[in-house]
Amino acid sequence: MMKTDVHEILIDLDKKHFIHPTSSLKQQNESGATFIFTSGEGVYLTDTSGKRVLEGMASLWNVNVGYGRKELAEAAYDQMTKLAFTNSFSSMSNEPAIRLASKLAELAPGNLNAVFFTSGGSESNDTAYKLARYYWKLKGHAEKKKIISQKKGYHGVNIGATSATGISPFHSLTNSHAPDFVHVDTFSLDSLRECIKREGANHIAAFITEPVQGAGGVNIAPEGYLQEVRKICDENNILLIVDEVITGFGRTGKMFACEHYGVTPDLMLFAKGVTSGYIPLGGVMVTDTIHQELIDLSEGVLLHGYTYSGHATACAVGLKNIEIIENENLVENSRIMGEELLNGFKSLQMEFDFIGEVRTLGLIGAIEMVNPETNERFDTLIAPRVSAEAAKRGLIVRTVGFEGMDTVVFSPPLIINKQEIHELISILREALIAVQKSLQ
Ligand code: PLP
Repeated sequence: MMKTDVHEILIDLDKKHFIHPTSSLKQQNESGATFIFTSGEGVYLTDTSGKRVLEGMASLWNVNVGYGRKELAEAAYDQMTKLAFTNSFSSMSNEPAIRLASKLAELAPGNLNAVFFTSGGSESNDTAYKLARYYWKLKGHAEKKKIISQKKGYHGVNIGATSATGISPFHSLTNSHAPDFVHVDTFSLDSLRECIKREGANHIAAFITEPVQGAGGVNIAPEGYLQEVRKICDENNILLIVDEVITGFGRTGKMFACEHYGVTPDLMLFAKGVTSGYIPLGGVMVTDTIHQELIDLSEGVLLHGYTYSGHATACAVGLKNIEIIENENLVENSRIMGEELLNGFKSLQMEFDFIGEVRTLGLIGAIEMVNPETNERFDTLIAPRVSAEAAKRGLIVRTVGFEGMDTVVFSPPLIINKQEIHELISILREALIAVQKSLQ
């Protein structure tokens, strides 16, 4: 069978049987899958037609150690052949979960020393909201239930996580909301203070923030913001949850992004980069203080747990992935290559008058599209055209086009080198030239 035949067969089967997440069902049904990838090596992916593309997004901000890492496959193989899985309910345990939990305690800031494992970011979010509410209930404040989050924040798609997400199209999908979720303006201390006053601190369990909003357009918390939030939360007996699902494990040039601000949250969420996407895993870290209070005050069983909490194979892969991040100095590489990426963005900003603000923190970054004549957003979104032109030329990037954004976002694997950054910028430049022509 010829290669193209296989491609056509797969396109057809994909249309018939595969409901894609966060995708246009109509477009998939009409045009088929945009890419069907078959292999990956380093920062590159190859599709069924043999086309090689540079992954400017590390897939979904997560394949941080790059594709084709045999060490991770071997770690999974070794663990699967020994003990693939055994559950962690009823106080049963397994060695990789114990070792990963203690490794995370070593890496996480401050006294975040205990972890509840999940299989991803959405589960980590819902778990954190429940743990925060449970904590206050145990302390005799069952009425402290509200979760405050930010506009443009993204926390996932479970019912709780969707409700905390501050991007309105995610809410309008079903028009049904979980109670006890309130949104404040992005990185606005005044809005947070006003919300606490309005809702009453005695009704608020926690405030959740991403240090860098990812899906909301790579918006970086301004210097001083998180420190002030920490103070406000302490003054009002509100738990601070930091969602590091994207930013954890080196993405921003520090192991965890809250280190940029010198802040230790009460609960910290991780997923994605903990295994570089090789296998699903996530979790919620809590401070010693919270952990001890939960131990001291709880009675009976903590009735919250996923079948795959503390999955032995996932944890073994997580341990090996962290070993790679440390041995290859990927946190430092993220910082240095992030500067290179920013320099590239700045040179493009000089060349193209429709590029507005550019920003990076480590290897997460964004370029904004603005109409140079009005200094406002174009009437029709430009960013999707940039990403389509980039894809044609062999570069994958994502765009954010809601909540007033017209933004191209970037999050390449943390193993990327200088030459590959230059390739990324050069393909992006060609894509921008094509878009510029279409604007004239
Ligand atoms: N939190 C943040 C900051 C995220 O970016 C995401 C996913 O992109 C999630 C939570 C949800 O994670 P998942 O898709 O693994 O459920």
